[in-house]
Amino acid sequence: MPARRLDGVAVARVIQSELRPAVEAFTARAGRPPGLALVLVGDNPASELYVASKLKSAGETGLRADIERLPASATLAELLRVVDRLNRSDAHDGILVQSPLPEAMGPGADRAVFDAVSPEKDVDGLHPVNVGRLVQGRAALVACTPSGVIELLDRSGIPIAGSRAVVVGRSDIVGKPMALLLVLRHATLTICHSRTKDLASVTREADILVAALGRPAFLTTEFVKPGATVIDVGTTKVEDRAMVERLFAPGSKRHAAFERRGSLVLGDVHPSVEQVAGALTPVPGGVGPLTIAMLLKNTLTAAQLRAGR
Ligand code: NAP
Repeated sequence: MPARRLDGVAVARVIQSELRPAVEAFTARAGRPPGLALVLVGDNPASELYVASKLKSAGETGLRADIERLPASATLAELLRVVDRLNRSDAHDGILVQSPLPEAMGPGADRAVFDAVSPEKDVDGLHPVNVGRLVQGRAALVACTPSGVIELLDRSGIPIAGSRAVVVGRSDIVGKPMALLLVLRHATLTICHSRTKDLASVTREADILVAALGRPAFLTTEFVKPGATVIDVGTTKVEDRAMVERLFAPGSKRHAAFERRGSLVLGDVHPSVEQVAGALTPVPGGVGPLTIAMLLKNTLTAAQLRAGR
């Protein structure tokens, strides 16, 4: 029997509808809506799409959202000046600098930006202060993608406490905070990465398997225990026809989408896993919409915390 599909679009819609009255109440009390500043450097088409969809969802939820654009040639110092200005803005409760930053900014640029955003406006949950609070189980602002995964599990009725959870990937943005959240919710956890030996023997133990590698269709059926819940965080744009044709039969929906667009966004989980897993997030339409919903939620939380200070 094919796996139950965990519909991130539907869950994100519910979260947004829950946020709307709380945003209205804040706006009535504060005389202004919660404000989100999105900073976009350069003209990466995928980043443009992500930012457009964040702006749209923020508007639908009643938040103020502004976009600050810098050219691809901007220096890290220029970007940090924008962040500093937004840190001091009364109208903005949350600041999100869209990644990836242009390579010319240097290898430490992402980290320098995470450090520069004021912890109270850090709606990405990546400032060391917020990460430290997460380790101690008392964070108010938590990285959006992993907290979105927890919301999806909770709202889908999938028990976390007592489960065996395996996270593949240990990035600061996804893997590490995901692992912390699962442990805080009483899962027994293993983190895997590129140096893990016999990965499949570890992932096959998972009741909840989170794939955050950025390697399209990497996790095939032999990595998955029958009946497991599989969360596919990966999103990789693939233009390789041979790869798409290995994964999707001609005439299938995904193959037709590839023919129309010349590319497909693929997750880290092989399509055949649908036949083994108990529940599975699709890509697209799984984790991605939750990431945006949690960004909106974090912006409201940041606004409430700043107003209550
Ligand atoms: P990342 O920084 O590149 O980290 C990838 C992780 O996967 C690393 O820890 C790496 O191990 C591990 N890995 C790579 N190859 C592996 C292998 N063969 N076996 C085991 N582990 C392996 O990526 P990220 O930022 O965490 O993102 C991961 C994926 O999630 C990407 O596709 C990204 O686009 C997607 N993403 C989606 C959303 C969303 O909203 N849906 C949000 C954020 C990210 P090492 O540490 O040993 O190198």
